[in-house]
Amino acid sequence: MLESVQITNHFVDSLSGDTSSDVRPRQVLEACYSNVSPRVCTAPQLAVWSTDTAKMLGLGDQNGELIDRAERVAYANLLSGSALLEGMKPFAMCYGGHQFGQWAGQLGDGRAIGLGEIFREDKCWALQLKGAGITPYSRSADGLAVLRSSIREYLCSEAMYHLGIPTTRALSLVLTGDPVVRDMFYDGHPKTEPGAVVCRVSQTFLRFGSFEIFAARGDYIRLQELLEFTIQNYYPELAAQYKGADRYLKFYLEVVKRTAYLMVGWQRVGFVHGVMNTDNMSIVGDTIDYGPYGWLEPYDPDWTPNTTDAQGRRYSYANQPGIGMWNLARLGVALLPLINDKSLVQSALDTYEAEYEKYWQAALLAKLGINRYRGADDDALIKRMFELLQLEEIDMTLFFRSLSAVKAKQEIARIDQWPVLMRAAFYQIEELDHGLVKEWVLWLQNYAKRVSETDDMERARQMNTVNPLYVCRNYLAQQAIDAAEQGDFSIVEGLMEVLRRPYTEQGGKAAFAERRPEWARNKAGCSMLSCSS
Ligand code: AMP
Ligand code: MG
Repeated sequence: MLESVQITNHFVDSLSGDTSSDVRPRQVLEACYSNVSPRVCTAPQLAVWSTDTAKMLGLGDQNGELIDRAERVAYANLLSGSALLEGMKPFAMCYGGHQFGQWAGQLGDGRAIGLGEIFREDKCWALQLKGAGITPYSRSADGLAVLRSSIREYLCSEAMYHLGIPTTRALSLVLTGDPVVRDMFYDGHPKTEPGAVVCRVSQTFLRFGSFEIFAARGDYIRLQELLEFTIQNYYPELAAQYKGADRYLKFYLEVVKRTAYLMVGWQRVGFVHGVMNTDNMSIVGDTIDYGPYGWLEPYDPDWTPNTTDAQGRRYSYANQPGIGMWNLARLGVALLPLINDKSLVQSALDTYEAEYEKYWQAALLAKLGINRYRGADDDALIKRMFELLQLEEIDMTLFFRSLSAVKAKQEIARIDQWPVLMRAAFYQIEELDHGLVKEWVLWLQNYAKRVSETDDMERARQMNTVNPLYVCRNYLAQQAIDAAEQGDFSIVEGLMEVLRRPYTEQGGKAAFAERRPEWARNKAGCSMLSCSS
């Protein structure tokens, strides 16, 4: 039962807090967080519940399910922030960040409220409500979240987990019963939308910006306090092995490594975060803050779903790995006062590119079903593939998935001999230029020859564990949102069910593995998103 759930205040009890309880927008100094009270909602209603996350936390029955009606009501109250448990100390974190390349000063949890942690099986899971009301960090905004962006956060964070990419999780989505006004494209067309609160779960919600704020303010006491807390709690192996400045350097090196790994995770499945500001970079290397993200559908390295970034394309698909490094450089600058040696920080940062290349090469070879790297020949094969992928609109997910169906000794000289899924990946297969068909045939023949050393079936089996068939496509998420806004959450549930097994072909679910339909090409929510959430 909910009353018996033990939630600790480990973060709050371990770190310096704000001495004021004023929630008006203000600069919060010498504190890692402020105590706040979540807003009481008019009619909290539990709309979506992740049994996977619940099981991880030991909530619900042995399958993580909430069957009992009264129990669902109790959870809706708690997870909307409307009724807290005895002893809880809700809080908003103070952090800063570089937004679109510029130092933005204090940002902080403007609409996220931490509830505390659940310790389970040696792991500590922090719970956080997104959209639960104003805090001293809300600036001029309302501290709330709308249903559409909450569904997007819920779906994608769970989808990422099942893809095997480090991410924050989602436990629940509660409708608040309160309307929220949003001008989706900031163009003078405000609309009333349903309000919602997602409960996110992660080891920690600390970001690069959590450290930058103290460095920017010259508050090295808090900087060190937070750094020690972070290492002891989330990098205990480093705390056990290293001391002093060396500990901080090793920590930085590990964040560099994890971030490189995360970027490869995104690139290999075509995930575009959309707002890689340093306040949206997790200190433990998780994907965090699902806002105007999107999935690459036609393979276009320049693509970003975020209309706010349409001009500069700073956070386009192709730029993500480089921005990961740029953000790490900002973290390095923030840690410098404690590491005290610029050249050491620089050398740690310099390991990023090699780390990234190492993981990326391994990911690519796995995607292609190549077991042993053969140097220049393989590089040429891969380079040509990416060149060809950009010449026509080709769905990235379907293309890679279809490669496992190319047999070593298969006739592939005509389009109708290509795997069905491969043909489905091309937006306009009928109008394909004759010369381009020839180029593709040549590439496919080279590819088939290259992989002929391994058994077709075994290779296909391996490739299908790394090339997903189902991803959280923008238009699928939008269809789920449209239904949910009419009160029907069955599409959200149905999509989530498929996304729980992204690498497994599921009977009767072909509709979830289709190329983006034409109606979705330029539709809001499907290809164009803004930061408004
Ligand atoms: P984001 O772009 O979502 O990462 O948010 C950047 C900053 O704006 C963070 O400090 C958020 O807490 C804050 N923020 C975004 N939306 C809201 C909102 N509706 N109310 C208050 N603060 C917000
Ligand atoms: Mg954010």
